[in-house]
Amino acid sequence: MTKTVSNRDSKTNHFDIIVIGAGLGGLYTLHKMLGQGYNVIAVEQGKRIGGTWFWNQYPGCRCDVESLEYSYSFSEELQQEWHWPEKYSKQTDILKYINHVADRFSLKQKIVLNTKIIDARYDQIDNIWRLRSSKNDSYSCDFCIMATGNLSVPNPPKFPRLEEFRGDSYHTGLWPSKHIDFSNKRVGLIGTGSSGVQASTEIAKNAKHLYVFQRTANFSLPARNKPSDPRTVEAHKREYEKKRQAAFATPFGISGYPPPTKSALEVNDQIRNQIFEEKWLEGGTISFLYSFTDLLTNQTANDYASEFVRKKIRKIVKDPKTAELLCPHSHPIGTKRLILDSGYYDMFNQDNVQLIDIKNNPITGFTENGIIVKAKEYLLDAIVFATGFDAMTGALHNIDIYNHRGISLKQKWKEGPLTYLGLMTADFPNFFMITGPQSPGVKSNMILSIEQHVNWVAQCLETMRKSGKRTINAKETSEKSWVNHCKEVADKTLYPLGNSWYQGANIPGKKKVFMPYIGGVQKYKNICDEIVRQGYPGFHLS
Ligand code: NAP
Repeated sequence: MTKTVSNRDSKTNHFDIIVIGAGLGGLYTLHKMLGQGYNVIAVEQGKRIGGTWFWNQYPGCRCDVESLEYSYSFSEELQQEWHWPEKYSKQTDILKYINHVADRFSLKQKIVLNTKIIDARYDQIDNIWRLRSSKNDSYSCDFCIMATGNLSVPNPPKFPRLEEFRGDSYHTGLWPSKHIDFSNKRVGLIGTGSSGVQASTEIAKNAKHLYVFQRTANFSLPARNKPSDPRTVEAHKREYEKKRQAAFATPFGISGYPPPTKSALEVNDQIRNQIFEEKWLEGGTISFLYSFTDLLTNQTANDYASEFVRKKIRKIVKDPKTAELLCPHSHPIGTKRLILDSGYYDMFNQDNVQLIDIKNNPITGFTENGIIVKAKEYLLDAIVFATGFDAMTGALHNIDIYNHRGISLKQKWKEGPLTYLGLMTADFPNFFMITGPQSPGVKSNMILSIEQHVNWVAQCLETMRKSGKRTINAKETSEKSWVNHCKEVADKTLYPLGNSWYQGANIPGKKKVFMPYIGGVQKYKNICDEIVRQGYPGFHLS
């Protein structure tokens, strides 16, 4: 840094805290920090708030965590008064809830919409972060908090001659707010992760023809979604506080699932299949993964579970060739994000739906009218890209983030993310991440993890304020040991075999490193709390 005089000029909008992003993470950060008396704003690139739930307005979009769990816990009144119509909420209901929260807690006046931060630099002389938007607006703040999301940068695939297609095209992660009518249209959908499975099942209901272009078959389980049962809701709300506490005592941050006690190898075939069957009928991903203690740590145990689901697929899908193509063999079940569906496999029994294998016969090009596979042209009116996201690090790398030594975050993380607890990265002082890489975020109930992170940061800032400290920085040594710990934990499981977005495997050229912390929410929270109790060892406070 060459500047020697203070540069807090009046033209810059200076705040105590700037939060980047106004999704679920950004909104709670804003609320919490306002409550602590900070001068704070959130800056959001979208034209509306909501983050993930604003951008992903594709048909069929729904959460795979139960509504009563996937909601804020910070206000008893809010959680008591809000009514969720269904067990698993659809996107429109979640977006409604998000807007209700923002209105109820007067957050909208503190949000700058339509403003994309493209540059963030730490100024060591003034001990502030200087931010610049794509409109060339300047802001500065004492603390910069990234609530930019883990699945917020869509991955538009590169296909030969893609630009030639003259029909409509959409990416599930950038879906327009207006209703898109697919009735009587020939639709091609590329991608069979959670978004593709949800979107196709809905689009198939009225499209003239739907071609699902599948590269890798994935495991999907029945959601068994249903309207909220008033008695269950009432009982849950009576004990809400207890349920929220109980969620913190689980690995995924979701209460209500009795943990397994037996290995899948301890029981005979009949009992094992009976247990899988009960879980299949119950629906949900955690219930299934909780069939036995070792589905994610023991290959044989996992093989039993994988084969159970493959048998279900073969039973549901009438055409044996299609059924076999839908059977996943590329990864152990659960090591890629498990999908929850509402009739996905059954959809392939519809006359208007066809599965196209693009693993053995890749797409060779696009024409004005469709997609070419194996010299055959599939004529299409519209194409839906459900091709995923540059997960976990994508949104952070979309901003040029520089520290006082002129080192960019991209440079620092070129071999994969380096963080302490997924909360901070060494040598980037006063820069926090909400559910950053190497935290449980994406492997947990996201809202619970958001609240835990924001509360931790808020408490940290309060401690600093009381003790007159102005700067916090993660120590490189603690970062190193945390990164190693995350890897050690992952290496004891089958997750590294998954070739998933958890490890950046879906983005060509991205360094393959397993990014989430999978030691579980309860262990992680204990570690974070212990650090506070011990006075923040692992961080420099000055
Ligand atoms: P995803 O899981 O990464 O799936 C992307 C799909 O696109 C994969 O099938 C992938 O095939 C395919 N694909 C990507 N590039 C391709 C190419 N060039 N050619 C052919 N196929 C290509 O993405 P997602 O479905 O959007 O889901 C991402 C995550 O968002 C989920 O795992 C979940 O955590 C979250 N999500 C949650 C919900 C929910 O709560 N229910 C809903 C939607 C999303 P390969 O596997 O061969 O790469």
